[in-house]
Amino acid sequence: MKAVAVRPKKKNSTFLVEIETPKIEEINNGRGVLVEVLRVGACGTDREINNGEYGVAPSDFDFLVLGHENFGRVVEIGEDVKDLNIGNYIVGTVRRPCGSSVYDKIGEQDFTTDDKYYERGISRLHGYMAEFFVEDAEYLIKIPPAIAEIGVLLEPLSIIEKGLKQAADIQERLKIWHPKTAAVLGVGNVGLLTVMALRMRGYEVHGFGRQPRDGYLNAELCEAIGATYDSTDDLPLIKSTKKYGEYDLVFECTGYSPIIFDAMQSLNENGILILASVTGGERKTDQVPSDKINQMFVLGNRAMVGTVNAGREHFEMGVKDLALCEAMHPGWLGRMMTHKVEGLENYEKVFEILNNSAEHKAIKTYFEVAKI
Ligand code: BGC
Repeated sequence: MKAVAVRPKKKNSTFLVEIETPKIEEINNGRGVLVEVLRVGACGTDREINNGEYGVAPSDFDFLVLGHENFGRVVEIGEDVKDLNIGNYIVGTVRRPCGSSVYDKIGEQDFTTDDKYYERGISRLHGYMAEFFVEDAEYLIKIPPAIAEIGVLLEPLSIIEKGLKQAADIQERLKIWHPKTAAVLGVGNVGLLTVMALRMRGYEVHGFGRQPRDGYLNAELCEAIGATYDSTDDLPLIKSTKKYGEYDLVFECTGYSPIIFDAMQSLNENGILILASVTGGERKTDQVPSDKINQMFVLGNRAMVGTVNAGREHFEMGVKDLALCEAMHPGWLGRMMTHKVEGLENYEKVFEILNNSAEHKAIKTYFEVAKI
C-alpha cells in the first residue's frame, strides 16, 4: 500500500513509499482492528517534521510514515473486539504507552515524564498517512456517522479538550469558579476549534490574530459562532482588557512565545492561562515586566498550565463538542475544512499549502485518501 513518509531531521525529505498492508494479527491480544484511512489532516507539526526540525523514525527504520490527524473506517476486527463493528467510523489517538513512567503504566501516557515518547506519525511510531493501518481497539474512538464529514477535526480538538479539562481540574481549588470570558490567542485551525469549544461551554469569547479582520475567513468564523475577532495590530491583547475586561481564561495557540507574557498580564483574578503551542525555536524575549507579572500571579491567585497530546476521555469530549456544534451551527465546522487534496501521491501539494497557508487562506488542509 501507499504511504507518505519522511526522513526525520532531513529538510523537505517527504516521499511516497510502498509498504506492506498491515494485518490485524500484528496486535496479538485479539483486539486488532484494520482501518481503511479516509482522511488525514496536516498541521504545523507535520510542517515542522518536513522541515527537519522534529520527528523520530521507529527503530529499525530510516523513515517515518507521517500523519496523526486521522479519520477512517473499520474493515476487519479481531475476535475480541466487541466495542467496534465493521463499517464504523473511527479516529485513532496519537500517543502510546511505551515508556517506563508511572503515567504510561496507568494509561495516562499524555502525561508521560519520559523524554522518549511514542506518537503515531510524529515520534517512533508510523502514522496514518497510508491507505490502511492496524491498531488496538483500545486506541480507537467511534465517530457517529452524522459527523463523519468533520471527523478529521477530532484529533486537533482533543488537544484543546485536554487543556480545558486541565483548567477545570485545577480550578477545583476554588470552591466556586464561574468563568465568563475567555481570550483565544491565534485563530488558525487550533484557535478556531478552541473558540468553538469555549462557545459550546457558554463563554464570551474574544479571538485575536495578526491578520486584519476584513476579508479574513477566520475572523468571519469567529463572529459566526458568537465570538469577537480583533487583529492585535489594532487592539493589542493587553489593551483589549480595557474594552473586554480581564479574562477568566486565556488559551494560547499562536506559536509565538513572546505573547505569553502579555497573556499573563491579561488574566483576571483567579484566572487561568493555558499554553498549547510547541515552540521549537530559540526565541528570547527582553523587557518582560517580571515584578508586575509575579505580583499579579501571587496577589491574584492566577494559574498557568502547559498542555500536550490527549487521552481517550479528551477525544470523547471532543466528539460531543463536534456533535453539539453541528447541531447549533450546522456547517460551521465544514467551513474550516478549506483545502482537500485527493490522493496520498499529491503530498507535495499538501506541503505547498501548509508552507504558504496565509496566501492560500487555508484553515484545515487534509488528504482525502478514500471516499467516505
Ligand atoms: C499532536 C499531539 C502531539 C504533539 C507533540 C501535536 O501536533 O496533535 O498529539 O502530542 O504534536 O508531538
